[in-house]
Amino acid sequence: MNISNSDNICVVGGGPLGAITCLGIAKALPNNKIYWVKGEKRAASQRSVAVMKPGIDYLKSLDIDFDSLTSFNQLKGLRLVDITQNLLSAPETLFMSEEIGLDYFALGLNDNLIVSELNKKISTYKNIIHFDVNLKSIIFENNLKTLCLENNEKISVSAILACDGKFSLTRKLADISHNLTELSQVALTTNLTITGDHNLISTEFHTKDGPFTFVPNGEKQVNLVTMLDRKKAEYYASDLSLLKNWVNQQSFGLLGHISSTITPQIIPLHKLTVSSLYKNGVFLVGDSAHAFPPIGAQGFNLGLRDVKSLIDLFSTEASLSKIGADYQKARFADIKFRTQAVMSLNQSLLSGLIPISPARAVGLSLIKQMPALKRKIMKAGMGNAYFS
Ligand SMILES: Cc1cc2nc3c(=O)[nH]c(=O)nc-3n(C[C@H](O)[C@H](O)[C@H](O)COP(=O)(O)OP(=O)(O)OC[C@H]3O[C@@H](n4cnc5c(N)ncnc54)[C@H](O)[C@@H]3O)c2cc1C
Repeated sequence: MNISNSDNICVVGGGPLGAITCLGIAKALPNNKIYWVKGEKRAASQRSVAVMKPGIDYLKSLDIDFDSLTSFNQLKGLRLVDITQNLLSAPETLFMSEEIGLDYFALGLNDNLIVSELNKKISTYKNIIHFDVNLKSIIFENNLKTLCLENNEKISVSAILACDGKFSLTRKLADISHNLTELSQVALTTNLTITGDHNLISTEFHTKDGPFTFVPNGEKQVNLVTMLDRKKAEYYASDLSLLKNWVNQQSFGLLGHISSTITPQIIPLHKLTVSSLYKNGVFLVGDSAHAFPPIGAQGFNLGLRDVKSLIDLFSTEASLSKIGADYQKARFADIKFRTQAVMSLNQSLLSGLIPISPARAVGLSLIKQMPALKRKIMKAGMGNAYFS
């Protein structure tokens, strides 16, 4: 049976990708009732997400315009600096957006800002009904799925778009098998004031502990996202002057000195793979479908491509099983490739093993010497092909 106006749809998860999915599906299917089970109120986040230009353009198509933000949110360059001090250190590599004819690669957006802007827009949609509580269980009966919420309300729908993150309950209730492993590293993230200039370039230092990245976050402001062993992260997070000294030392004064920092957040990291993106009328989107460490600004952007693909398929008004099969076909390879690439890069930093580390160095040298290859890699990193 094909999707029609009488089908209710539920989006589970009030994170950035849940909000975008909710807006996208409500705009694409204005005559359908869209339930949004947002979950409990989100904790404030210091996380700054680099949203690539194709994603920014997609958000514009949903009437969300982040381009009007200050020009300091624009990321015009990406610098990779190897400080692993292995046998053969990779050269510094600079990727600039103008090399592929773009004003900027990405906008650095705070998680909270993304969610609050989307919530404002969503409140203008009459076909969205939202619930600020968690999903508790689902009863699957033929074509109907009944969601039971923690406040005991019940919602009956034809399709569920699961955006409830890497520990997704929806995925579990739909019986989609998955593999979730916690990494030995955690992410430490904080906002810093610098005395130098970031010149709108995101700088990713590759260290033996993992990547250590400064993302421009306003004038003389950067967001630090670094990955390291939990004990070390807790040690540096225990004292702000200790943290400042460590960051100054790690960054070799490339951005001047760190003049102030705020209390950092420590975030556990996981690798998540799933057997399928669709089962029993449930579609996995964003971190419920894939998760890996924050390297190269991939996770959110990958999720945004899930959203676009799924909304495009729902707009065809095909049957749910056809949409499910097509969604799997459209998204699985991209997800598998990004997960493997990020995990291999992280492994190459941690291992310090011959020949992995020199292979990375040689790879970066080749990229520098071959502009056509470099341009191809930049476009692939942004996921351009999936938005065309
Ligand atoms: C430090 C760090 C930096 C990052 N930087 C980047 C970057 O620069 N670029 C990039 O592309 N990606 C980045 N990422 C990845 C990116 O942040 C995530 O991929 C993205 O936020 C996932 O969004 P989501 O909405 O799928 O999941 P989440 O943000 O995890 O949201 C899930 C939501 O579901 C809700 N929920 C959970 N259970 C239930 C339930 N039972 N019922 C109802 N609701 C429920 C939760 O409350 C939550 O609001 C980074 C990640 C980290 C950790």
